[in-house]
Amino acid sequence: MLLTAATVVLSAAAAQVGASPVDAGPARPPAAPTATASGPTSVGPVEEHLPGQLLTEGQAQGSTRLEVDWGNRTPVQGQPVTISGSAPVPSNGASRWVYLEEQAIDSRVWGYLKDTRTDATGRFRLELTLDRVNEPRRFRIRLDKAPGAPSAASPPATFSAVWKPVGPATVSYPGLTLVWPGAEVLVGSKQAVVGTLATRLTRATAALQQQVAGRWSDIASTPVTGAGTFSLDLPTTYLSHGDYRVRITANGTVALETPGQSVVVVPDYTPAGRASSYVFVSPSPVGRWNPCAPISYRVNTAKAPPGVLLDVRTALEQITQATGLRFDYRGPTTVVPFATSDTFDPAVADLVIAWADPAQMRGLFPAGTLGVGGPEFRAGTAVDPAGRPVRQIYQGGVTINTAFNKDLKPGAGEGLTRVAALMHEVGHAVGLMHVTGDEAQLMSPSIGYGLDRWGAGDLAGLELVGSGGGCVTPAA
Ligand SMILES: [Zn+2]
Repeated sequence: MLLTAATVVLSAAAAQVGASPVDAGPARPPAAPTATASGPTSVGPVEEHLPGQLLTEGQAQGSTRLEVDWGNRTPVQGQPVTISGSAPVPSNGASRWVYLEEQAIDSRVWGYLKDTRTDATGRFRLELTLDRVNEPRRFRIRLDKAPGAPSAASPPATFSAVWKPVGPATVSYPGLTLVWPGAEVLVGSKQAVVGTLATRLTRATAALQQQVAGRWSDIASTPVTGAGTFSLDLPTTYLSHGDYRVRITANGTVALETPGQSVVVVPDYTPAGRASSYVFVSPSPVGRWNPCAPISYRVNTAKAPPGVLLDVRTALEQITQATGLRFDYRGPTTVVPFATSDTFDPAVADLVIAWADPAQMRGLFPAGTLGVGGPEFRAGTAVDPAGRPVRQIYQGGVTINTAFNKDLKPGAGEGLTRVAALMHEVGHAVGLMHVTGDEAQLMSPSIGYGLDRWGAGDLAGLELVGSGGGCVTPAA
């Protein structure tokens, strides 16, 4: 029995909307300031000078040129940095607008980010928060012309946020000391659990075990050295809320076993929106692929614009990072999913991604529809490692409307991109339905919000349909 409702249409209210407001901001700065009622103010160091607080002459007297103290240019991701400075006070004594601008990576054009006003002494403060690590961004401060004070722009300053430094934790157990990575580690980072045994054991082996769906299983093991030490790599290739423990075996019997320790593998950005913002295509039992076997796929590029294979790969990498599902490319195909029926010959591949004209698609591509994607479920019940029922996905299809070949920008990034459209459609094919009321999610019915990365709800749902739910096997 096939579920036709699994074919989910991505509407393209999409195509009309531009970049996300966070990254691009309004196209032009706010209206120029009007003259304020406050007259010229005489400001001396005395009224500003608090006990114990040092002020430089320049700050106290009001500076004759724009000066910017950028603060910490390698701030911790998600934590605000304060940018302060001083600007020449206009001859009418009015406060001035101060604009924080960012240089676009691709065009070198400076764009408005936020603004503030100087106080009567010309001083200003702004806060800046960077939500992605290791992604350099260039900023400057700009002043409009004011009476007796020229327009000015500061030299650019480059900021790059760093990962939150959660240090490793040393934990002592009876007979064993372990150094665990921090409670949160960055996806793709190198992490290990390092141990030292208190007493020498003969022919000892250390295993790192992970608990998934109530079951502990080995994910890495290594012999213990003669000095009683060992190091076990902790997997960080995909995002997860992991529960781990270490088991020491000596002469074939379990000598030691630690309690569970949680380590969360997090993305290199702060996901937007609510973690509860996800919906399963099949909620009960949950519809999922078996994450313990690779998913083969083919791509039908007959009607696709050039370069789509790279975009497909990028989108699937994003799926893999969020789910742990692995994809295995098998080459081209002539299959167009959903063109003539909801299913295709399973011998072709597990997943097919194609481009097609509206005329090929049985009315599935009314005007404004960017694409369709969905899973097909195997008949009968499968189970997870805890024996709970699962509705196993055995086939997935994605078809992108060629009417959008021109509107979908290649690659990822701002605006409506091929990678974002593919991430959304493959998101359906791995078991997620549209979520409404939280536009920060890529699984919203319309992706015109300028998204190119998963939101917090997308990630929570993808973890549950992926490796986070454990292997899927047919019910006995
Ligand atoms: Zn959709």
